[in-house]
Amino acid sequence: MSAAETLRPDRARVAPLLGLRVDACTYLGAREGLPRILDLLARLGLRASFFCAMGPDRSGLAALRVFRVPGFLAKMLRTRAPSMYGWRTLLHGTLLPAPRIAERTGEVLRRAAAEGHEVGIHSWDHVRWQDRLDRLDARAVREDYERAIEAFEAAAGTRPRAAAAPAWLASSSSLLAAEELGLEHSSDVRGRCPFLPVIGGRALTVPQVPVTLPTLDELLGRGGLTAEGFRRQVLRSLELGRPNVLAVHAEAEGRAHLGTLEALLLEALAAGWEVVPLGEVLARVPRPLPRCPVERGTVPGRAGEVSLQGREVGEASADEA
Ligand SMILES: [Zn+2]
Repeated sequence: MSAAETLRPDRARVAPLLGLRVDACTYLGAREGLPRILDLLARLGLRASFFCAMGPDRSGLAALRVFRVPGFLAKMLRTRAPSMYGWRTLLHGTLLPAPRIAERTGEVLRRAAAEGHEVGIHSWDHVRWQDRLDRLDARAVREDYERAIEAFEAAAGTRPRAAAAPAWLASSSSLLAAEELGLEHSSDVRGRCPFLPVIGGRALTVPQVPVTLPTLDELLGRGGLTAEGFRRQVLRSLELGRPNVLAVHAEAEGRAHLGTLEALLLEALAAGWEVVPLGEVLARVPRPLPRCPVERGTVPGRAGEVSLQGREVGEASADEA
């Protein structure tokens, strides 16, 4: 093993960091869940990363996935999605008009930033991204980012520096758009440690901070597991020697499962984990970051494919000359 390899963040020992990412995918999550999670983190004296969908909340269209994605209906019912999201949310964009999330959530975004959290975008049109990313051309993907950035600036009064892709779905177009638009980092995939994504032999400049831990809906979606079981499973999955990143949803952990999130954070803190925003995880892992392709695959409990951190590419690739 070379000296450089021993410094890689997935091999080197780093302080026990738990990056906390909060996604608000819907208007309901942004309006009701985010303030409660902000209250909780203020009480515990913690900072995290918040990523908010900006555009139309068309979650009602997402509910129609029951007809297209095998296993989706069973998962919806096991996770009690209708009670978690509320029937209103499931009708947004179908029988009810789709509210534009950013237009009504400026206050909560400004509050999060003022309280020292990292705030960023979680796409413009979450449902379209999740359902059709691979069918969108590069221009449409870039436009999604641009609209999200514009709406974020109007709502929050600052330019977002970070992003998180819906449903852990990235593509070459989305990774390149993030680079073109000058984001500082992004959390689009599931993986092991922060890395630079490689496309066509070239390492991009926008690092990925992947989610390393299972999510509540994935564990509930596998059936037989309770919110309490989720807490235990996450704590068991925390690995010393590498940063861990947990993603929670404003719709779930910010509402019905707020108590689970609080218990989980308290236990992690008691065990010596430092809870930080993703930008801080990235800042504190050793350099150089590994270079890895982004692939597609499955994670247990999640319907359909997600983007995954691939195996590290060797140091001496031809394009680096
Ligand atoms: Zn989302």
